Amino acid sequence: MMLYDAAVIGAGPAGITAALYLIRSGLSVALVETSATGGQILSTAEIENYPGFPKGIKGWELADLFDAHLAGYAVERVRGKVLSVEAREDRTFRIALAEGGELEARTVVACTGAHHRTLGAPGEETFLGRGVSYCAVCDGNFYRGRDVVVVGGGNSALEEALYLSRIVNKVYIVHRRDAFRGAMVYQDKVREAANIELVTGCVVDEIRGGNAGMDSVVVRRVDSGETRVITAEGIFIYVGMEPISGYLPAGVERDAAGFIKTDAEMCTSIPGVFAAGDIRSKRCRQVSSAVGDGATAATAASSYLEQWNA
Ligand code: NAP
Repeated sequence: MMLYDAAVIGAGPAGITAALYLIRSGLSVALVETSATGGQILSTAEIENYPGFPKGIKGWELADLFDAHLAGYAVERVRGKVLSVEAREDRTFRIALAEGGELEARTVVACTGAHHRTLGAPGEETFLGRGVSYCAVCDGNFYRGRDVVVVGGGNSALEEALYLSRIVNKVYIVHRRDAFRGAMVYQDKVREAANIELVTGCVVDEIRGGNAGMDSVVVRRVDSGETRVITAEGIFIYVGMEPISGYLPAGVERDAAGFIKTDAEMCTSIPGVFAAGDIRSKRCRQVSSAVGDGATAATAASSYLEQWNA
């Protein structure tokens, strides 16, 4: 079996960049991806803050450009879901795939990012795909001309509420505090939008509906306990992210939420394992920071391999 210099896991902005830098350093690289290139940007409508695109760029367009950039290089593209990464005594790693195959590599660069956290409210599972969604870009069109709820107060909630406000009749943003966490530029825009109502200081108690799908959301004021029923056919939940890091060895140090701890060079607590992008424990989770992490991780992995060979 081929022993790759590097196995890059995840083909979002961090993974694509890491693979690009590693292959351009003359190393052999396997890039493992579960589905299409792009990661979270595939479910982002418009990216307005990635330098070089002053008018913004659609998430899928940027993903296509990332993919095209890698196309001319001899990176081994492996389709599959990584089940586990095992650190062996000879310092190499065995990467097992859910589909049954496996890979061997001298270094691992973990770039699998994070996925959306659920609310845990009654009705959330029942109406999944019948009103409950975590992706406005994917599902927003089903609610054209209808009323929907967006939950959360971060950049994702505000950005996606703005996207939905251009499609649906009315958007209610339900947020548990009165202050938003999202950037001021988005806060200003949601406050200016004629068809967005801010329902702050409230949590979702229940998502209700019938055979045809959900039809309303029960929200409760955090201070008074007073409840309100919002009539809506869709609810888009953006209450933060959870890391996709379960496949990494238990010995890789994590923070309380499971995000991977690295140093400034993207080295984890296990020599030869690097992490880049949203899987890392850090504050800033942006396309631009993921790209930077990917380049840094690849540089650190190259130096590690040079020492290996010395
Ligand atoms: P986030 O910034 O962590 O915000 C999560 C929001 O959900 C917070 O407002 C939080 O409320 C709320 N929340 C968390 N748990 C909740 C619960 N159980 N019930 C109700 N509300 C809950 O997450 P995000 O918006 O998904 O963004 C993730 C990262 O990606 C962030 O670093 C963000 O800046 C970045 N991002 C950037 C952009 C951009 O710049 N274009 C776009 C999207 C995402 P509290 O505020 O009260 O904690």
